[in-house]
Amino acid sequence: MSDRLSTHFRTCPLCEATCGLEISHRNGEIVRIRGDRDDVFSHGFICPKGSTLGKLDTDPDLLRTPMVKREGRHVPVTWNEAFGTIEARLAPIIAAHGPDAVGVYLGNPNVHSMSGPLYIRALLKMLRTKSVFSAATVDQMPKHVSSGHMFGHPDLIPVPDIDHTDHLVILGANPFESNGSLATAPDWPGRLAAIRERGGKVVVVDPRSTRTARAADEHVPIRPGTDALLLFAMANVIFDEGLATPGRLDGHISGLDEVAAAVIGFEPEAVAPACGIPAATIRRIARELAAAPRGVVYGRIGTHTTEFGTMASWMVDVLNVITGNLDSPGGAMFPLAAHSRPRSKRGFQTGRWATRVRGLPEVRGELPVSALTEEILDAGEDRLRAMIVVAGNPVLSTPDSDRLDEALATLDLVVAVDIYLNETTRHADVILPGSSPLRRPHYDFAFYQLSVRNVANYSPALYPLPEGTPDEWEILLRLGAIASGQGSGADARALDDAIFAMQVGSTVSDPTSPIHGRDPEEIYAATGGQCGPERMLDFMVRVGPYGDGYGVDPEGLTLAKLAASPHGIDLGPLQPLLPEALCTQSGMVELAAPALIADVPRLRSAMSRPPDGLLLIGRRDIRSNNSWMHNVDVLMKGKERCTLQINPGDADRLGVVAGGWAKVTSAAGTLVAPVELTDEIMSGVVSLPHGWGHDMPGTALSVASSRAGVNANLLSTGAMDPLSGNAILNAIPVEVVPA
Ligand code: SF4
Repeated sequence: MSDRLSTHFRTCPLCEATCGLEISHRNGEIVRIRGDRDDVFSHGFICPKGSTLGKLDTDPDLLRTPMVKREGRHVPVTWNEAFGTIEARLAPIIAAHGPDAVGVYLGNPNVHSMSGPLYIRALLKMLRTKSVFSAATVDQMPKHVSSGHMFGHPDLIPVPDIDHTDHLVILGANPFESNGSLATAPDWPGRLAAIRERGGKVVVVDPRSTRTARAADEHVPIRPGTDALLLFAMANVIFDEGLATPGRLDGHISGLDEVAAAVIGFEPEAVAPACGIPAATIRRIARELAAAPRGVVYGRIGTHTTEFGTMASWMVDVLNVITGNLDSPGGAMFPLAAHSRPRSKRGFQTGRWATRVRGLPEVRGELPVSALTEEILDAGEDRLRAMIVVAGNPVLSTPDSDRLDEALATLDLVVAVDIYLNETTRHADVILPGSSPLRRPHYDFAFYQLSVRNVANYSPALYPLPEGTPDEWEILLRLGAIASGQGSGADARALDDAIFAMQVGSTVSDPTSPIHGRDPEEIYAATGGQCGPERMLDFMVRVGPYGDGYGVDPEGLTLAKLAASPHGIDLGPLQPLLPEALCTQSGMVELAAPALIADVPRLRSAMSRPPDGLLLIGRRDIRSNNSWMHNVDVLMKGKERCTLQINPGDADRLGVVAGGWAKVTSAAGTLVAPVELTDEIMSGVVSLPHGWGHDMPGTALSVASSRAGVNANLLSTGAMDPLSGNAILNAIPVEVVPA
């Protein structure tokens, strides 16, 4: 260890923005973290969370050794004891009840690591369970479903080309607080300001006057849960007024007439009462979008977490298609990441299996997490008996969470891979601690596929793992080995070699691959003794769209080149990729998939519903990140952030007062929260942030528990968007009275 001050550059793994960090350190201590001004993508931008990576690494509550629950208490054990305990208890469950009796929940941090995207699949394959749940069904599954139907693959997601657009319409997103989602872009404030500086326009549709809305040219308040109606009405105007111009993609689109017919009846005048937006405003924003030389609609979590999440997500991209803005610079475009592999052209289907209690269909290989509680609790031979929770805290982050909390306590076995003893892992019989972000290499497999510019940035680990501590990929493979009967002593490296060999084998036999027909031994020899995620990354980048193809293009990318570029490599602005990139069986953009058209009558019936009284929505805060940054003291300082926001007029009417407490009741439950009056929220709407409620016994979160907040998910039911299985967390009818 050196006394000298050293500098380490790495990509921040905490959110989707992928900012470059400049980390000054000495003697194993972080001295300062600031934005990397030379980063090719973020150019020095950083948010308050990024500078706390060092605090996360030194948090005294961080688990550094495996824990096993004995007589109700978690006690530290060796890694071999932990894996041995899992083997002793998991194997009999699988033998007696089959692999589907073991559920897996994958939390959001999985996609912020290298091991998650690469090795979870191996774990699931070895476990052979179909009982897979994840944070995707409380967040973004509608986008996967609409993309699957329209473009043929659930991960073929267009992103707003915000650096080149003239007109951006944002619905249900607050990137000034969230830093963006399903659209990776560091520095949203700077990028949106640039749209306005070049004479463009930004419109934000949101029930709250958020920071994003206040920085826009226009804020359009909307009644929660009605985004789909607004989007249908905008499409209605564009078709009705003859403004639909698919442009370059004309000839590669099917279903245009069916969609034009489907939006009849959703005239602005018809949806205006439900949306709470004047019909003239709806007509104007539709016409302005159609008239913009380069325009794009971007919808995010507020549109997805509603009962019409997939309808809204679909119509966002219909609008981008019919205004000629899909796959066009300044419109909605498809990123091409350095590690991209050709996607299957088999098309998209859902419902290959279903939940046992309600028969809810599988989507993208997983089941709705809103059904997890009943899959555990409802009687039946085939109920869930065990759970493996990887980097997730569903007790706080999923619907009807007090029942899920009870359900987890009834299981025969809970195994968690997590860095904290939190509200979920307190139920774990065994906790296997993952590594803190500074002790693992990083490359954003998930977010470079959602990036508004093609970039690649690899960061080596700053600090080594403590002696004898397995890396996360080894933990996942050893769990998989236990589940597949290979035992707790299986050699993770040998398993990794086998997985890599399969990957190489399938690539050399793929006629579209740059290494088609090559000898696999030649590829193994070129790996230079690497293993784990870095070997896989090197391989994926080398056979990827910018890669060297193992000698085919000597100028092409390799991991060594990425490692020699600590500020990242800029691969240029997004380029048109259609129709070649489409994965539909027809080879077309399928605008009118039968499953989507069949759901339109349900939306139509919502137009005439009487208003529901007060509606609850969520909100983001730049110092928070779901539930997983609440034990970082510097982020928790300052004014209370877990408050019930309410408009002063509504507060007056209901008798609740600023600084007082309110009792909030929904069909699912009741909670008591501190009241914050603000005219930034429209009348008829109240807001609570999510990820709070750290006051449960049996956790070890000293900072988070000192400012526990309340768990908003006590108010959400198991209801969901039927097409995607996504939970309804937005527009929940509630009653509010003084507590
Ligand atoms: S915006 Fe996201 S990626 Fe950037 S510093 Fe903040 S948490 Fe990290």
